[in-house]
Amino acid sequence: MDGGPGLPQERRLITPIPGPRSRALLARRNATVARGVSVTLPVFVQQAGGGVLVDADNNSLIDFGSGIAVVGVGNAAEAVVTGVRDQVGRFTHTCFMVTPYEGYVAVCEQLARLTPGDHDKRSALFNSGAEAVENAVKIARAYTHRQAVVVFDHAYHGRTNLTMSLTAKNMPYRHSFGPFAPEVYRVPMAYPYRWPTGPDRCGEEAATDVITAITTKVGSDNVACLVIEPIQGEGGFIVPGAGFLSRLADFCRENGIVFVADEIQTGFARTGAWFACEHEGVVPDLVTTAKGLAGGLPLSGVTGRAEIMDAAHVGGLGGTYGGNPVACAAALGAIRTIEEQGLVERAGWIGETMLARLRDIQDQHPVIGEVRGRGAMIAIELVRPGTTEPNADAAHQVAKACHAAGLVVLTCGTFGNVLRFLPPLVIPARLLDEGLTIIEQAFEGLGRPANPMPGDEIDTPT
Ligand SMILES: *Cc1c(COP(=O)(O)O)cnc(C)c1O
Repeated sequence: MDGGPGLPQERRLITPIPGPRSRALLARRNATVARGVSVTLPVFVQQAGGGVLVDADNNSLIDFGSGIAVVGVGNAAEAVVTGVRDQVGRFTHTCFMVTPYEGYVAVCEQLARLTPGDHDKRSALFNSGAEAVENAVKIARAYTHRQAVVVFDHAYHGRTNLTMSLTAKNMPYRHSFGPFAPEVYRVPMAYPYRWPTGPDRCGEEAATDVITAITTKVGSDNVACLVIEPIQGEGGFIVPGAGFLSRLADFCRENGIVFVADEIQTGFARTGAWFACEHEGVVPDLVTTAKGLAGGLPLSGVTGRAEIMDAAHVGGLGGTYGGNPVACAAALGAIRTIEEQGLVERAGWIGETMLARLRDIQDQHPVIGEVRGRGAMIAIELVRPGTTEPNADAAHQVAKACHAAGLVVLTCGTFGNVLRFLPPLVIPARLLDEGLTIIEQAFEGLGRPANPMPGDEIDTPT
């Protein structure tokens, strides 16, 4: 049986989660996979499509994770599978730098068409998000002949040496892995929920703080680029206060600093726009893309102003696998799916539906400090009732209850106290609703004397 859209769109629990087959596979995994590679929910997947994942025990789980915002078009989406099948039967690799092929060019054409701004653009393709961010920094340095990189509190940009250095959170991303790359400067993020003078003044005041920090601590003419997620992902789905991004973009333009939008998590329809920068009317100089770009195959890109992109000398950018033809075929299929199925609008509808339901739940549960997000990128920040003190325990408990009930949810946030929801944009309305009901029930069960949950004993660090 195929995965993909033909899969029955239902939640079905046949065994406790994880079931015996998954547990046996987990034992094999633990005996051979490095401990550093964590697992959120140890069900071993056999098929997936639409809004469900089917595991080795034939349980069908509702997916509110999309493999971390990757399969927005659904797993094994038809146009992705068709494109990949055709390509993989013709050739699998030549290395674009040795002998090129059309698919790479076609993806770059789509990136030029879809990313914000109608200026002349160029793109380069890579394998992972981290690799795209590294290359954006290389390009910005080559263009500006400057070295400093400005990044933000709560930022996440990857796990390679440079991108780990750009990432804010110590545990688990940086701890024991130094030394870090030099010339990285961290500045405050406009985090409305936690801004001392309140959310309304957050965007403006945070932008002032950032500009002061850059001017006084780094020197604006030392700064090659500012790298920012227009909505922070791993950091807690933080939607910056209004005006923050546009003021920073203006400041960058006035000071010859390359404004890099890391849209790796937010891009490709996820937030109810092709790119999250559009919500703030910001046109970045460079955009990094990956996760939602290729329907599950590894592909990433840097797209931006032609004069900046072309500052890197011939041969200075690339890699053996970057822009692999099979991954490019998948990307073309994913982009076609987003357009043909109207998934930008659909993401907006998912956001409205989720925010309305989750805000009702918030009214009943003072442990919920904030419900926020855009489109199909929605989060709940949990606190100790009556305070804004982060409550990671509650987030962990709710996530575990959801998992046991057959709903895949993820956590995130600097304090580990944020539940995040990233459903596939093609999820049927009925499953979205059922998932939200499971979340509601998980909150109702919170604080009740805990029935030991199946799977409790195999709690794994995330
Ligand atoms: C996931 C992510 C990355 C890193 O992408 P990888 O493909 O895991 O290297 C970088 N930036 C953001 C915003 C991300 O969400």
